[in-house]
Amino acid sequence: MLMQKAKVVLIAGSGHGGTTIANMILGQHPHIFATGKLRDFPHGGLFIKENVCSCGAAADACPFWQEVRLRYRPFQDKADQEKLPRLFHIVSELSGRPFTGDVSHNAGYARQLLQTPDIDLYLVHIVRDGRGVVWSRIRKDVRIGRLNKGFWQRLKRVIKVSRRWKWHIREFGKLEQQLGDQSVRVRYETLCQDPLSALRPVGRMLGLDFDAIGKQLGSGQPFMPAPHLIRGNAVLRTKKDVVLKYDEAFRKDMPLPDRIGFHIASRF
Ligand SMILES: [Zn+2]
Repeated sequence: MLMQKAKVVLIAGSGHGGTTIANMILGQHPHIFATGKLRDFPHGGLFIKENVCSCGAAADACPFWQEVRLRYRPFQDKADQEKLPRLFHIVSELSGRPFTGDVSHNAGYARQLLQTPDIDLYLVHIVRDGRGVVWSRIRKDVRIGRLNKGFWQRLKRVIKVSRRWKWHIREFGKLEQQLGDQSVRVRYETLCQDPLSALRPVGRMLGLDFDAIGKQLGSGQPFMPAPHLIRGNAVLRTKKDVVLKYDEAFRKDMPLPDRIGFHIASRF
C-alpha cells in the first residue's frame, strides 16, 4: 500500500473527439500534468523513433520521460494494481503536480483504473457531436490513403466509426454513474466555444479554479505549451501558439452519403 493514493484525471472519449485538446486545456492548470496515453507504458508506441514529445525532443530522448522510465523499471513487470499507481506517483513526483492527466479511448482501461485501490480516479468524459468525430476520422483516412477502394469501403468505415462513437458514450457513461461526484461530462463544443463555463464543473470536481484559464483561452490567447506531452494529436501537441478553435468543418464539408451512414449507424 502506498502512502497516498495517486490522483489521476482521466480524459476519456472517442478518438477524434477532442480528448487531446481537453488534456492540453486541463494541463494549463499548475496542479495538473498532462501526459499522453499511459496505458501500456512504456510500450504502446510511446517511445518509438518517430514520436516527438511536446518539449521538442524525441520522446525516447526526452530527459523527463527517461527519468520516469528509469524510476518505473523496478515495477514495470509487477501486477497492474501495483504498477499503475507507482507510475502515476512517479510522474507526479517528477512534475511536482499533484494530478496526472491521462487520456484514454478505452473503457476497459478506465475500469481498470477505477478498480485499482491505490488510484483516486477523476473522469472527464468528453463528448463531441458524432458527425464531427466521423468526419475528422474519415478526413484523416482519406489523407493517409486508407480509403481508396470506393463507395462501399467508405460507407463501412463511416458505420464502424459511428458505432464506436456511440459505444464510447455508453461505456464511459456507465463509468460516470459508478464514479458519481468524481466524474463530469463535458461537451467538446462547449469546451471550445465557452471554456469558462465548460471548465467550472471540472474545477468543482477537482477542487481547482479554472476561471483564469477559461477566460484566457476563451479570449483567443494561445496555450502555454504542455511540458512533456507524448501522445495525442501530434499537430496540436507539438505546434506553437495553438489557440482554442471550434472545428465544425463537418457542417459544410461532410458529404451526404457519410451523413446518411452516420445517422443510420448511430441509431442502433
Ligand atoms: Zn519531453
